[in-house]
Amino acid sequence: MEPHSFARTSRDNTTVESVVRQTAPIGRFAPSPTGRLHAGNLFAAVVAWCLAHREGGKMVLRIEDLDPERSRTEYADAIMRDYEWIGLTWDFGPYWQHDREEAYRAAYERLEREGLVYPCFCSRADLHAASAPHFGEKLVYPGTCRGLSNAERQERAQRKDPSWRLIVPDKDVTFDDILQGSQQQNLARECGDFVVRRADGAFAYQLAVVLDDAEQGVTQVARGIDLLPSTPQQIYLQSLLGLPHPEYAHFPLMVNESGRRLSKRDHDASIDELRDRFHTPERLLGRMAFVAGMMPNDAPLTLEEFAREADFTKLGGRISAEWS
Ligand code: GLU
Repeated sequence: MEPHSFARTSRDNTTVESVVRQTAPIGRFAPSPTGRLHAGNLFAAVVAWCLAHREGGKMVLRIEDLDPERSRTEYADAIMRDYEWIGLTWDFGPYWQHDREEAYRAAYERLEREGLVYPCFCSRADLHAASAPHFGEKLVYPGTCRGLSNAERQERAQRKDPSWRLIVPDKDVTFDDILQGSQQQNLARECGDFVVRRADGAFAYQLAVVLDDAEQGVTQVARGIDLLPSTPQQIYLQSLLGLPHPEYAHFPLMVNESGRRLSKRDHDASIDELRDRFHTPERLLGRMAFVAGMMPNDAPLTLEEFAREADFTKLGGRISAEWS
């Protein structure tokens, strides 16, 4: 592996420079309790645990239950039991996003005071804002509502509650991803002003996640590559709010036979199915490491062996591993 780095922002707030990290990383599990785990979620948790533990690091567990309609406590409990079954441990938490409303509000009000947010009346603007946007869900917002006058805003607000967008600059955000290398995104052209608060008052994933990572001491964010396009937004928010930048590692996703990202619909990859099929965590971990191209065969592995022996450089790419 490359020497690990943490990130420091340049003076114009958009370039994140790597600095060699002196201390062991603090990684995180950030499951959304919207269903049972499947092979893809489990692989993500295993990789995050291994990347931190390879260097003597620790893990935070944060339950991302921002979206009250989709989140269930029973799923959070089941996820923790399934993590325990496979041997995944956490040192801090579980923290719950539903306890963090005040912190989200304070940060949001700070952005508002600084004149950085505006109301958006576009339909369906905040449909997904409270959950992490996975591939295909991210659209470039053209700034439709940015230029409305106060009178227009007041008039529209009588008919519709707006969502609230953060103004982004026409600048590139750059950062070094541990697995994917140097990354660059122009916020204005490739993202656009993004939602930080939904029309129903709920705070958006992008805002919550940067506040939580900072508050919980997370220094290493390891997650699926479908969240790579969100990282520049998060880095920008960290800069605006004076928060530290964690290091990032985005790894390929597990897909089904038709090449689609695994979802709750792929029953043969569900955790219960996996437990029935593989019987022991070691056999499942061995299979996962092999499917991901990180081991030459699917011999059983403990979690510690996975962390020590699997080839993490194989995750430096966007090719997805077909789960079978
Ligand atoms: N809660 C998100 C998910 O389960 C992960 C968000 C993140 O890692 O930043 O997809």
